[in-house]
Amino acid sequence: MITTINPATGKTLAKYGAMTPAELEQVVVHAAEAAASWGAVPVSARLEALTRLAAELRAAGDGLAELMTAEMGKPIGEAEGEVEKSAVTAEYYAAQGGAILADEPVAVDGARAWVSYEPIGVVLAVMPWNFPVWQVMRFAIPTLAAGNGVLLKHSPNVTGSALAIEQVFRAAGFPEHLVRTLVVDEPDVPATIEGLIADDRIAAVTLTGSNRAGAAVGAAAGRASKRSVLELGGSDAFVVLADADVDAAAAAAVRARFTNSGQSCVCAKRFIVEAAVADEFIDRFVVGVKGLAVGDPTDRGVAVGPLARDDLRAALQRQVDESVAAGAVLATGGGSIDGPGYFFEPTVLTGTAPGMPAFDEETFGPVAAVAVARDAAHAASLAGATQYGLGLSIWTRDASRGVELARQITSGAAFVNAVVASDPRVPFGGTKRSGYGRELAAHGLREFTNIRTYWVA
Ligand code: NAP
Repeated sequence: MITTINPATGKTLAKYGAMTPAELEQVVVHAAEAAASWGAVPVSARLEALTRLAAELRAAGDGLAELMTAEMGKPIGEAEGEVEKSAVTAEYYAAQGGAILADEPVAVDGARAWVSYEPIGVVLAVMPWNFPVWQVMRFAIPTLAAGNGVLLKHSPNVTGSALAIEQVFRAAGFPEHLVRTLVVDEPDVPATIEGLIADDRIAAVTLTGSNRAGAAVGAAAGRASKRSVLELGGSDAFVVLADADVDAAAAAAVRARFTNSGQSCVCAKRFIVEAAVADEFIDRFVVGVKGLAVGDPTDRGVAVGPLARDDLRAALQRQVDESVAAGAVLATGGGSIDGPGYFFEPTVLTGTAPGMPAFDEETFGPVAAVAVARDAAHAASLAGATQYGLGLSIWTRDASRGVELARQITSGAAFVNAVVASDPRVPFGGTKRSGYGRELAAHGLREFTNIRTYWVA
């Protein structure tokens, strides 16, 4: 039995019975059949379904947003934004999918040759709770456009959202069994997922989540010789150079760290500031962080809600405490907020450095780690001193210098004078321990296709 809990109150929301092995088998049988039929549907008809999906998402938007906020505690305005972003992504692929999936002629001697992007079948998606709708949609929309089916194993704390997502696809007129949610009880998850990955009816797997879960899924995909995409954690650097507009950088830094109550893989987590502007930046950043309203995420005046689960809050507290014990200084915040719910004070740690958990590990909550760099070269070296490589943000009045510095640091995306964010028009994904493969744009659509060569003499 899966029990969902409102993290703002600690109260039970709902209970869901897990599927039996026989029920799971039926879902797989039907999904495989539905995917085989869907793959034969012309691309234009698949893309029309995406236009209907955008409308359906908007129609269901208020209810979906309220459900997400109840299940994992994100501020309601952000939940609404997540649904709208999903609708915009459906529209993007409805408009662009035809060109991305079109055959590509190749000039060869004595034959006609071309590359086709063909469906591969059912793709299994193992998803996290932090963007309950968006994480699923940014994978599912292009994957369905490519002619595949989707089996969704969502985080248990957002089971209501997972089932609501299934309904949205059905309401948009997608075939009944093409997108299905698997309700699996926690102790059974690793074995069930491994069994599905090994199953010949599953073509590929994608996972967004922790490195621990990613390693398990990646290994199982390797054993089954199946394609996998892993979108894992991040400890993104936000680099402020001495020539930056410090006011703008500090305001952006607050947004970059505390969106989704700090629980995003691409939240900036390490703020690396050149010494010449360090005091000015820290002062303004801390003022901004102190001004964040923390509380009931259904209240539109609230900027930071609770953490999604109590164990995540405890993990964050350990990272803060161990960093302070290792010499970091608390500029503001630092601990749990008493009372019901899993609230944590918006926190800024200064004087952080490699060797401290707040610098070396991913902090998944409202905690910012600030480190001072001697100069730009030192800033680049500190920014790269991480096992992760997801997004990077650099702030400078000289944009070309920012791009030059970005080339010295490995990451899946580099933003200059902008906060890292995903956008359907550009690919999204990681390097190093942040994972592999890409979502969104043309790259995300082709990720789960059979890139097939035709050579006709
Ligand atoms: P998690 O354990 O990685 O969960 C993500 C998904 O993976 C869930 O659906 C989970 O299912 C599943 N999973 C876990 N272990 C698995 C295994 N051995 N085999 C197959 N599936 C497995 O993440 P979490 O515990 O909710 O969050 C912990 C940490 O993950 C965070 O602190 C953060 O670092 C990271 N995280 C990253 C992102 C991101 O966007 N990159 C998002 C969320 C979390 P069950 O929960 O049912 O086991």
